[in-house]
Amino acid sequence: MLKIENLSVYYGYVCALKEISLEVREGEITCLLGANGAGKSTTLQTISSLVKARSGSIEFRGVEIGGHDSAKIVDLGIIQCPEGRQLFPSLSVQDNLMIGAYKVKNRSEALENRSTVYELFPILSERRRQLAGTLSGGEQQMLAIGRALMASPSLLMLDEPSLGLAPKIAEQIFDLLEKLNKEKNLTILLVEQNANAALKISTEAYILETGSIALHGSSESLAKNDLVREKYLGA
Ligand code: ATP
Repeated sequence: MLKIENLSVYYGYVCALKEISLEVREGEITCLLGANGAGKSTTLQTISSLVKARSGSIEFRGVEIGGHDSAKIVDLGIIQCPEGRQLFPSLSVQDNLMIGAYKVKNRSEALENRSTVYELFPILSERRRQLAGTLSGGEQQMLAIGRALMASPSLLMLDEPSLGLAPKIAEQIFDLLEKLNKEKNLTILLVEQNANAALKISTEAYILETGSIALHGSSESLAKNDLVREKYLGA
């Protein structure tokens, strides 16, 4: 579905991504792991066209999208759920959700998406009139995912959805991503530092180290890899 080849990204003279190649297959969860500063967020930002690549290609469903502007990327159904959630704290839960549907063509689709989000996250339905800034961390993460779902994504990209959450709440978020993938057949590109959880719910995994893909394979095989176990799984 998404194919990246030899992608290089620089911030001024600093090389953030060095000729990385990766693929996200339709209907699967693919995860991108790595330490702080490895280039995970830069990868997502470049796919979303918020950061421009210096070289390389990004193909979505066989079409080069590397030069597109970010609004067109959203139109294609590539939706990013950003690190740190970036909600509007002084707007209600419901208003935050509706903002996510700004590109959806008709109101009935937006309302249908909203019903699906409320079904998936009953807590958001209960708190629909509450200000987003007063939600707990876990609820805010659910709202950020809900807002991304409002845009009818065909590829959902999540940047560290478990960041700052208590282990039990993070587990709920990972369960939910797995459910979205299995029940709604949603393709997901998941950036995570929680390698254990990400490898459990994904099919394919890539490990970034200082801007390069250091390892790639099935999530099952990487979970058994000694190097991965020692460096990323604390085994
Ligand atoms: P984290 O897990 O900490 O979010 P990451 O793997 O997502 O890290 P990136 O945020 O993609 O890593 O950063 C990759 C490299 O690019 C880092 O060395 C970072 O300092 C650098 N970088 C990121 N954004 C910028 C920027 N706007 N200007 C200059 N350098 C940047």
